[in-house]
Amino acid sequence: EKILIVGAVGGGATAAGQLRFYNKDAVIKIFDRDSVMSYAACGTPYAIGEVIEDEETLLMADPEQFKEKRNIEVYLRHEVMGIDREKKNIQVKNLMSGEEFLESYDKLILSPGGTAVVPAIKGSDTADIFSLRSYNDMLAIKQYIESHNPQSCTISGGGFIGLEMAENIKELGIDVHLVHKSDYIMSILDEDISREIEKELLLNEVHLQTNAYITEIDGRSQTLSNGGVLETDFIIMSVGLAPNVSLAKDAELEIGETGGIVTNDYMQTNDPDIYAIGDASENFDLVTGEPKRVPLAWPAHRQAYIVAKHIIGEPIAKKGLLGTSIVKIFNLTAAMTGLNENKLRELEIPSVSLIHNGNSNAGYYPDHGKLKLKIHYDPNTREIFGAQCLGTKGVDKRIDVIATAMYAGLTVDDLQALELCYAPPYSSPKDPVNMAGYKAD
Ligand code: FAD
Repeated sequence: EKILIVGAVGGGATAAGQLRFYNKDAVIKIFDRDSVMSYAACGTPYAIGEVIEDEETLLMADPEQFKEKRNIEVYLRHEVMGIDREKKNIQVKNLMSGEEFLESYDKLILSPGGTAVVPAIKGSDTADIFSLRSYNDMLAIKQYIESHNPQSCTISGGGFIGLEMAENIKELGIDVHLVHKSDYIMSILDEDISREIEKELLLNEVHLQTNAYITEIDGRSQTLSNGGVLETDFIIMSVGLAPNVSLAKDAELEIGETGGIVTNDYMQTNDPDIYAIGDASENFDLVTGEPKRVPLAWPAHRQAYIVAKHIIGEPIAKKGLLGTSIVKIFNLTAAMTGLNENKLRELEIPSVSLIHNGNSNAGYYPDHGKLKLKIHYDPNTREIFGAQCLGTKGVDKRIDVIATAMYAGLTVDDLQALELCYAPPYSSPKDPVNMAGYKAD
């Protein structure tokens, strides 16, 4: 059996490894147009901020290792240009030599990820503008900072990457202006949680403007939609991610309403010999069953496993996604799972929200921190729709417990009966998750 994979990072490299683990004989080849593979994209903001001192630790593998240890052939700087579904081959271009060739497949896995959205703004060519999507993007930003010694930066977009970059660039001693188009940052969070993050940014002297975006650029000067003008040395655009679906579209694979490649329970596209995984794939929401695209590392890795199991004939159906996610902003951590207030309102799902304001661990223990836990649930069936948590400590475990409860179909009332670990440095005899369960009415 011959399996070809497009994309050698999050989903692609993982799928190849999983397949080799289960099938020692298959021919497995991976193509990526980039010059590096299997790197930890999630670590790149921290390499820019020098929290991670040696950026090469983000590189998990290279083609030689893949060949030697796993007998997987990886072709970097090779772009897949087209798919011939009838003949079951792909057209590949060697970007170094310009040579093109065809490669046949029995199964094809698409894990092409996404591309950072960079809006066309007048005067863009007069400024130093970056976005952060890949390892090489990270190197470009690092090299720029080292060679130009900039004093100030504008970050456009207050989502995950924008916030991580704001923190890391600020930690380098560079003045940071963050502009965000809508009313509050981090649209996947509820407004009250986002507002707390905004306070943390201000506390750390990140200059924030919401309801603002860059309309024109002239060298170091940026005109904003609110009439303001910023003068900074460079710009980072972090306004979103467009899934790379042109290859799939050209091959007439179905693209869904989220802009991702439609997949079934086993990550097959509408062509059963072609799978799509990772940021470019469309899946469904665990709570509503609606189409959902979650461009995060957990889904990419999970889907890689589901594809490998399907190809070896031991199928496991995928489950819906909750979009469980977490972000660090200086001393604060915010995490969420499931539906947020806006989504519940938009879908007109009757729900109530409870808020538990407590401590991360015993209040008498020196390093405890305040913790806010919010749960949205159905007042009748008691189904948990989603949760959000904010604090300085222990935020991840509360959301992880609730995400687990949601997968298990537990109700909000069941949360009081969970026996969770406790000693003063970690929690309280009644954990915040238990407290939320007691408080639900
Ligand atoms: P990618 O890992 O992006 O890989 C896609 C690859 O396909 C690319 O290398 C691309 O060159 C290649 N490709 C595309 N088209 C072609 C073609 N036609 N021919 C050949 N090659 C092609 N997720 C989290 O869960 N937590 C985090 O903290 C987190 N932090 C992040 C921070 C940053 C700065 C970034 C950029 C991402 C972060 N993510 C995080 C997201 C996570 O990295 C992605 O969800 C994950 O990498 C998706 O895997 P993928 O295989 O779909 O795409």
